[in-house]
Amino acid sequence: MGLLKTSGIIIKSLDYKENDKLVWIYTEKFGKISAIAKGAKRSKNNLFSVTLPLCYGDYLFFKGKGMCRLSEGKLRNSFQGLLNNLEKLTYSSYLCELIDISTEDEDANYELYKQFVTAIYLLDTDALDYELLTRAFELKLLRATGYGLDFGNCVFCKKKLQTSNYISLSYHGGVCENCPKEHGIYLSKGSFNALRFLNNTTLDKVYRVSLTDEMKEEIFKITSSIISSNYTRRPKSLDMLKFIKEW
Ligand SMILES: [Zn+2]
Repeated sequence: MGLLKTSGIIIKSLDYKENDKLVWIYTEKFGKISAIAKGAKRSKNNLFSVTLPLCYGDYLFFKGKGMCRLSEGKLRNSFQGLLNNLEKLTYSSYLCELIDISTEDEDANYELYKQFVTAIYLLDTDALDYELLTRAFELKLLRATGYGLDFGNCVFCKKKLQTSNYISLSYHGGVCENCPKEHGIYLSKGSFNALRFLNNTTLDKVYRVSLTDEMKEEIFKITSSIISSNYTRRPKSLDMLKFIKEW
């Protein structure tokens, strides 16, 4: 019981009863927190503008016996520009959903939090290819939650890899030319090298690689297979992303 004070981003919100909202916030100090925001549905309420999707701010919660209650919020950035662009909205919703399905309540993960805030900031800037940024974020997320991929050494014999044309989905990484190719996906060496680059670089540097649509597809097939098989459920916004790309 007591007060929790931390910064965070609203990853999900639902109307609740007549005037209230339920919010899910990914926070710096406590990981994912679900809380009730009393009165937040009314536009005159103090909590209204700090509980909109993607709001980034400093939040104060009261934790009693039942559910956490959001008592105060101070906005750092509303990121509402992301909501006015269908493509950005879809990518940012997808990042929020990834955070939701890959984390448990109140399990702090500072590395993941830092990557998430950076990715949302970068999505808001127009400076980068959203798709590459999202792939790089997926790789950071997998690593920060214990499912990181190894592109440096063969996952079976540990031999150093110059490059590879096969990713093992059960052992999470590249396979050398001599080891068995089972439960995995073939890809071009160019895509393997690009995956390794996206895995190792910081999010703000993803613009340094430029990929054909075919390579992007190969890379997406790998990250989405690993994400779908390791987290509690498959992200639904993936279908929307596919729709947008074909549209
Ligand atoms: Zn090997």
